[in-house]
Amino acid sequence: MKGKFGITVLGSGSRGNASVIHGPDGAILLDAGFSAKEIEKRLQYSGIEPQSIQAVLITHGHGDHTKGCRAFADRYKICSYFTAATRHEGERCKFLPEKQAVIAPGSSFEIAGITVEPFTLPHDAVDTVGYVFQAYSRKIGVATDLGHLNMLARQKLKGCTLLVLESNHDPQMLQASTRPIQLKRRILSRHGHLSNADALSALDELLTEESTSLVLAHLSSECNNRELVEKLAAEKLAGLNRQDIFLRIAVQDQPLATLWAEE
Ligand SMILES: [Zn+2]
Ligand SMILES: [Zn+2]
Repeated sequence: MKGKFGITVLGSGSRGNASVIHGPDGAILLDAGFSAKEIEKRLQYSGIEPQSIQAVLITHGHGDHTKGCRAFADRYKICSYFTAATRHEGERCKFLPEKQAVIAPGSSFEIAGITVEPFTLPHDAVDTVGYVFQAYSRKIGVATDLGHLNMLARQKLKGCTLLVLESNHDPQMLQASTRPIQLKRRILSRHGHLSNADALSALDELLTEESTSLVLAHLSSECNNRELVEKLAAEKLAGLNRQDIFLRIAVQDQPLATLWAEE
């Protein structure tokens, strides 16, 4: 039997990240970086019943990914999934809901008919993961907080039908910004965030015949802008002769329309 498999990016950026993965038997909330009320508002805007969400998956302990985790998961009495170190971080930062499960990078599990595989990402929070989701022989990959695309990340993200990849900053805009030098160093480090050029150069390898859609996400509000990313990405796709790829830029304040890998 055929069903649906797709993603709705509810919002992305340093002030909050959350997406919904739609599967054959329900949906998963991927990160809960807005208040529970704001998540509900964005679900409603996107036409998604909050009751259809069966679990919350967390990528890492930063507040822009965990803010509403406890309140949302407890309100709908669903389980939240973290790596052990992120769960430990959650005890300290008080984002742990009542129902919890511990996951390990590299070990797959199933929720809502979707095979979920977390994999380690190089980022400045303990035990950060990206996720690959599979259903109907299609693959959705999400990696939004990473300092560089190491071999593991490239291997996991290659050939996704739908790819959501960080395109965080323009290095020149970052250097020219009023941000403290320590923060600039952190963002630019190999455990910080991907620049526009980092993200786009990876497409040479990540996009394959299977790829249909690309979402660039987690744009810095001060050191990047949507028009720039859209222009650079369109040029890159043209250079690769991949104008067939459906390109979207995720923004902070508004959900994107749902993208389907299978419907
Ligand atoms: Zn982060
Ligand atoms: Zn983040």
